[in-house]
Amino acid sequence: MDTTLRDGEQTPGVSLTAEKKLWIAKALDKLGVDVIEAGSAVTSEGERAAIKGVAHEGLRAEICSYARALKGDIDYCLECDVNSVHLVVPVSDLHIEKKLRKDRETVLCMAVDTTSYAIDHGLIVELSAEDASRADADFLREFYRQGVAAGAQRLCYCDTVGVLVPERAAAQFTEIAHIAPMSVHCHDDFGLATANSVAALKAGATQVHVTVNGLGERAGNASLEELVMTLESLYGYKTRLNTTELYLVSRLVSRLTGVPVAQNKPIVGENAFTHESGIHTHGLLADTRTYEPITPEMVGRERRIVLGKHAGSASVHLALKELGLDANDEQLGDILKRIKELGDKGKRVTDADLQAIADAVLEINREARIKLQELTVVSGNVVTPTSSIKLSVDNQEVVEAGTGLGPVDAAINALRKAIGKLADITLEEYHVDAITGGTDALVEVWVKLSRDGHVITARGARADIIMASVEAVVEGVNRLLTLE
Ligand code: MN
Repeated sequence: MDTTLRDGEQTPGVSLTAEKKLWIAKALDKLGVDVIEAGSAVTSEGERAAIKGVAHEGLRAEICSYARALKGDIDYCLECDVNSVHLVVPVSDLHIEKKLRKDRETVLCMAVDTTSYAIDHGLIVELSAEDASRADADFLREFYRQGVAAGAQRLCYCDTVGVLVPERAAAQFTEIAHIAPMSVHCHDDFGLATANSVAALKAGATQVHVTVNGLGERAGNASLEELVMTLESLYGYKTRLNTTELYLVSRLVSRLTGVPVAQNKPIVGENAFTHESGIHTHGLLADTRTYEPITPEMVGRERRIVLGKHAGSASVHLALKELGLDANDEQLGDILKRIKELGDKGKRVTDADLQAIADAVLEINREARIKLQELTVVSGNVVTPTSSIKLSVDNQEVVEAGTGLGPVDAAINALRKAIGKLADITLEEYHVDAITGGTDALVEVWVKLSRDGHVITARGARADIIMASVEAVVEGVNRLLTLE
C-alpha cells in the first residue's frame, strides 16, 4: 500500500509558509509515506516556491502537486519540479453542470488532453475523479478507461462530500480496481472516512489518501493516524510506516497549522491514552490491555494517569510508577490524602503537584536545578515587549534577554533561551485562569511541557500573570529534569 499525504492546506483558515511546509514534508518522509502532495502549484507564487522547496529537498517520497484539467496548471507544476500531479477532474453531473457549466464529453476531452500533456512533459499522472461517489457508474468507468489510454499511471476515486458507506465503497472498488492502480480519497463528513478507506483497500485499492490529524476541507479527510493503526492493529497489515513517529508528526502539524487536535481524537488526542481514577486504573494495573487496545508506545506516546479528588490508591500507585517512584501502603495513603485535599480545593492536580507531594512524603530531597533570581519585563504601546532574566542553573548564573508579542511571551522567550543549553523543552499548552474577579485577581497559569516524549503539567499562581507564567514553566522544567 502507498500512502498519499496531503498537507491539509485545504483546511479552512490554514495557510502554511514555505518553511513550515518543508518541516512537515521532512517529517512525513521520515515517517515513511510514499507520496507527499505538497500543495497546489497554481495557487500563488509563494505556494510554488514552497512546493519547489519540498521537491528539491531530495526526499525519498514522490512529491506531487494538485492540478485541474488545464494545461496552465500543469505548466505551474512543471515549474515546481514535482514528480507527479494529482489531476482532479469532476465526474458527477452535479459538478460538471453546476460548477463547470460543461457537459460530460467536454470534461472527458479536457481530462484526456491534460493527462497526455502532463505525460509528454515527464510527469507521473494520478487521474482523480472528483465526486466519483455521486457520478454515473458507466461514465466513471469510461473516464478511467480513457485516462489510462492517455497514459495516466494511477487513478483515484474521490468521495468528495463523504457520502460513501463501507458496503458501497467495497462494491464500487470491486468494479473499478482492476482498471489501473487505484487510490481512494475519502472525506469525513459522516465520520466514515477511515472505515470507507479500509473497505476500498480491502476491495482492491492500492493507495490511500490521508492527512495528518484528519485535516482538510470541512470535516477533513481520512486521518493518517487512524488509518495506519486500524490497518496495523485490527487488520494485521504492515504499512511500513514508522508508527512510533505518529504522535510527533501529529504534534508538529498541529503546532505549525495552528489547528488543535480534539482531546478525544483517536490515537493522537490528549485523552487517547489518559486514564481517570477508579475501575480503569485498577484494571490497567493488572494488565494495560484491559483498557488500552494498543500500547501508547506503539505510536510514540506515554500513558497518563489523571489525578483529582476522585483518585484511588490504584491510580496514585500507577501514577507514581510512571514517575519511576515506589511507595509503601502508609506512604501511599498519605500521598492520596494530600492529593484529595488539593482536589477538594477545586484544583487540577498537575504532575508537578504529584511529584512535589510524593517527594515530601517519601522524603526525597530534590534541589531544584533551575532557580529564578531576577526578572525584568518592559512593555507598553511604543516598545517591543522585552524581558531580561537571571537564573541560577546548576548553581551557575545565566543571564538572557528575549522579546515577544507581549510581556508574557517576552519573559518566556528569555527563559527559554536561558535554559536552552540545558534541555530542549517544548511548551505544548498554556492556560490562564483568574481565580477571583478583579484586576488584582490571583492568576493561575497552567502549562504542559514536553521533552523527549515525556510530558508534564505544572502550575504557577501569583497576582502577577508574568510571574505566574515564569513560575509555572520553571516548576515544570525542574520536574521534567528529574525524569532523566
Ligand atoms: Mn478532497
